[in-house]
Amino acid sequence: MTAARKPQAHGAAPVVLRPAVNGDNAYFWDGVQAGELRIQRCVRCSRLRHPDSPACPQCGSLDWDWTVASGQAEVHTYAVVHHPLLPPFTEPYPVAVVTLAEGVRLITRLRGFEPDELRIGAPVQVRFEEVAEDLVLPVFEPRRT
Ligand code: ZN
Repeated sequence: MTAARKPQAHGAAPVVLRPAVNGDNAYFWDGVQAGELRIQRCVRCSRLRHPDSPACPQCGSLDWDWTVASGQAEVHTYAVVHHPLLPPFTEPYPVAVVTLAEGVRLITRLRGFEPDELRIGAPVQVRFEEVAEDLVLPVFEPRRT
């Protein structure tokens, strides 16, 4: 993520952290904007991988496509960030590594947890959160089924 270019001034629009989109990960961010959690997949051996990489770590193939993940996951580990609280953050917030049902892990923000329910192994579900008029980010929230 990269910070917005302009510092926040009184009366200015809030700071929005934007992903660093490039040719290797544009498919992922295009998916997020479309409400899909896309995961890179090796065309040769079908191994899923995240974060994106140009070559498959299993077979070395440079050919890849992507698949749409279910969005269901569980918390692998997490931390609650208390300091420093740089804009746009105004209060402590949890950041987690989640393991998707498809077996791939990713780093994400968590939303909607009561302090006593946040734990390793908690079932979570992706939600696509509009953080600015032109930006949607994936977050994970408790899956209560
Ligand atoms: Zn492969």
